[in-house]
Amino acid sequence: MCVQAVGPFARVDSDSTTQEFTMKIHEYQAKALFREFGIPAPDGIVARSAREAEQAAMTLGLPVVIKAQVHVGGRGKAGGVKVVTKEDEIIPTAEKILELEIKGLQVNKVLVTPAANIAKEVYLSILIDRGARKAVFIGCADGGVEIEITAKEAPEKILRCEVPAGQLNNLPKELLQDFASKLFPDAAQADQCVDIMIKLARLFAEKDCSLLEINPLIVDDQGKVIALDAKALIDDNGLFRHPELVELRDMEEEDVDELKAKEEGLSFIRLDGNIGCMVNGAGLAMATMDTIKHFGGDPANFLDVGGSSNPKKVVAAFKMILKDPKVKVILINIFGGITRCDDIARGILQALDEMEVPVPIVIRLKGTNEAEGLKLLEGTELHPAQTLEEGAVLAAKLGGQS
Ligand code: GDP
Ligand code: MN
Repeated sequence: MCVQAVGPFARVDSDSTTQEFTMKIHEYQAKALFREFGIPAPDGIVARSAREAEQAAMTLGLPVVIKAQVHVGGRGKAGGVKVVTKEDEIIPTAEKILELEIKGLQVNKVLVTPAANIAKEVYLSILIDRGARKAVFIGCADGGVEIEITAKEAPEKILRCEVPAGQLNNLPKELLQDFASKLFPDAAQADQCVDIMIKLARLFAEKDCSLLEINPLIVDDQGKVIALDAKALIDDNGLFRHPELVELRDMEEEDVDELKAKEEGLSFIRLDGNIGCMVNGAGLAMATMDTIKHFGGDPANFLDVGGSSNPKKVVAAFKMILKDPKVKVILINIFGGITRCDDIARGILQALDEMEVPVPIVIRLKGTNEAEGLKLLEGTELHPAQTLEEGAVLAAKLGGQS
């Protein structure tokens, strides 16, 4: 049985899930991917000014929808999606949308697309359920802009359909029929939905996506099932396989520091706290953040400096961390394996020679050549910690949190 209700919708609410290792693309780009995989999604024209939007609308013919292209959801509610039926409304509508800031992001471009007549709005997505270690379809017969409310107030309406391991590329119809008919009681529409799900799963697998979301998946006045909106998140770790997707990255929408970090070979994500973290290895960086939180502290960032002890990288890392005025203390947590602790210590000291770090630094060195490493740090202003727990407690204290 593949249909059952899920509890929290939070995993699916695209803005609240942590998407730290994903690349976002725009709706118009996601729709182009959809079409490439045979999923019906209306084409359109991207415009950067009201004049361009007008031209696009005249080319397509009225009525059109003008849609803000920004990397956040809820554009409709914010006034970023408008149907335009009259010629003299195109320019003022486009101007208004291009002036909007939605959830902190400035709208720089709009998608102009033929308006559809909507008979029904459904929610459909596919994502990885970490708990079940499987891809799963999530669906709701009442799609549209109120989906989060539905999920909260009537969670039993949210359906799920797990994809058996290894079957994403070739899903059998029978597996999806039940789920699709719950979303679309009409048999012809359910068939179209099944077809879309099969293609969606293929796209999900082939392009290393972590989420594909269609809200709304509509039935138009001809009975055709169409993706009226499209959202795609791509797993960063799969991007090396997809140069064609890397090109879709929109620099205007990305955190400049996070991108710069990538160029330096660092993996950096800004968070809200005041304890700057510098860690080698992504898993250890996660564990470090958890431990800091456990002891009442609040990490200011996630930063994996990788395996190297290169002082240039350490300098780049310090600079990245210190750009954030909230940072009151830095916790360095290094596990020396192949990289030796004394090399790391030397790298840090050399970095500190080159630049000033105006906040206290707590450092925990563990593993290969740890004694030699700690010896090098003697007599410096760094605060050594024996264990991660001790380091986290000290950092929280120096950061003024406990
Ligand atoms: P979101 O708010 O960012 O998710 O943007 P959507 O693309 O989902 O659009 C929001 C809402 O605008 C949809 O749920 C529809 O109700 C409406 N909408 C979008 N496109 C059309 C269209 O072509 N025709 C009509 N009538 N409504 C549309
Ligand atoms: Mn939507």
